[in-house]
Amino acid sequence: AKGKQSNLRTPIVVVMGHVDHGKTTLLDKIRGTAVAKGEAGLITQHIGATEVPLDVVQDFCGSHFGKEIEIPGLLFIDTPGHHAFTSMRSRGGSLADLAVLIVDVNEGFQPQTIESLSILKRFKTPFVVAANKMDRIGGWHTTTNAPFAKSLKVQSERVSEILDTRLYELVGELYKYGFDADRYDRITDFTRTVGIVPISAITGEGVPDLLMILVGLAQRFLKDNLQLTATGPGVGTILEVKEEKGLGTTLDVILYNGEFFAGDTVIVGTSREPLVTKIRALLKPKPLAEIRSEERFLPVKHVSAASGVKVSAPKLDNALAGSTIRVVSNPDEVEALSLELKSELDAVRIDTENEGLIIKSDTIGSLEALVGELKARDIHIHYADVGPISRRDVIRAAAINDPLLSAILGFNVDILPDALNEIQKTNVPVFSSDIIYTIIESYERWVEDQKN
Ligand code: GDP
Ligand code: MG
Repeated sequence: AKGKQSNLRTPIVVVMGHVDHGKTTLLDKIRGTAVAKGEAGLITQHIGATEVPLDVVQDFCGSHFGKEIEIPGLLFIDTPGHHAFTSMRSRGGSLADLAVLIVDVNEGFQPQTIESLSILKRFKTPFVVAANKMDRIGGWHTTTNAPFAKSLKVQSERVSEILDTRLYELVGELYKYGFDADRYDRITDFTRTVGIVPISAITGEGVPDLLMILVGLAQRFLKDNLQLTATGPGVGTILEVKEEKGLGTTLDVILYNGEFFAGDTVIVGTSREPLVTKIRALLKPKPLAEIRSEERFLPVKHVSAASGVKVSAPKLDNALAGSTIRVVSNPDEVEALSLELKSELDAVRIDTENEGLIIKSDTIGSLEALVGELKARDIHIHYADVGPISRRDVIRAAAINDPLLSAILGFNVDILPDALNEIQKTNVPVFSSDIIYTIIESYERWVEDQKN
């Protein structure tokens, strides 16, 4: 049941934020409330995502939306850790129509909060900030699943003051990164000011407000992007390339435009030549199965945007997370589509003769993010590519004359065994992590040490 009269597809909402700030708990809350109300059947589990239909949102909010709301619901993507970069991308733009940036009010901004924010800024993705865990403020009185205003009424003056102070700290942090922000009920224009919604993902307080704002933003966004539909040749972003028992290599895909049918011919991005293959099976999680659990797939013949789906097909071993999968409707299109897919990676890859660092990353999205942060700091790059750290990378790094640039930075990549030998021989330092901030910080600290 996609769309009402119109062909508006389900908007994609990415939930981002620092680890442990409450992304999964928020989605569990929305799902759990529907289950408690006997609406579990309405919630559709996707691969890596959860679809919440508009009826469920309305029920949670305790209010009915007007006729102007035509979107069928919201598709929430929970981005675990380093996958934030991968899943946020679609052909050089944002995969997400909207985002929720979750910040623990008691901890404030943390490295992955800042990384998420810089991605949102780069892609100009509209977002709201969920100031989570407000129930942890000492002396908090809980009103389960209540809208924020109702919940605030029963708090002591001291608790309200602490909350306000914490929220203003967030306003200050956001200002530092170039965003005007305020508590959402104090602003009128959400296109100019970022709304901060105080919530508790555990008690559900403020969650109705968050959902209302998302529906309003999503409706406006999709109206302005009518090219995104639930019909026509499918286009999706590859979230993960995964080995599955009995299926071989599969792709976890967010289909963001059009539709896939089992048997469709598709073209898939790799780190070299795009590959053409045929969809053997489209798989969804079985109802009530855990998201991302193995072995519990239900084959379907057809999926339409927006959807999270596992694609099983021959020859997927070289598929690249963060790149595109697209239906080929006509063999004549293969050449043009192939060039288009290759240009996605080429736009991000760097290869120069200049002195500089060597950058390796796991996906197009993470490479783009890491390169972006280095450029912003005027740190020179010799070359940047996706893939594990190889012997050749170490040899090339060792050949760089500037001792402060003779190093490798890796984002969530393996070091191949023969590269390890070469590292021992040459002493080329490798800075690797799945947090960009950590990589750059440890490189910069090493540079300082070398100077002293
Ligand atoms: P994620 O890493 O962002 O997905 O964070 P999780 O959703 O796994 O949450 C991390 C921890 O914080 C878990 O123990 C949650 O129970 C707890 N937590 C999340 N949201 C809240 C909240 O609103 N209030 C309280 N008290 N705890 C929370
Ligand atoms: Mg989580």
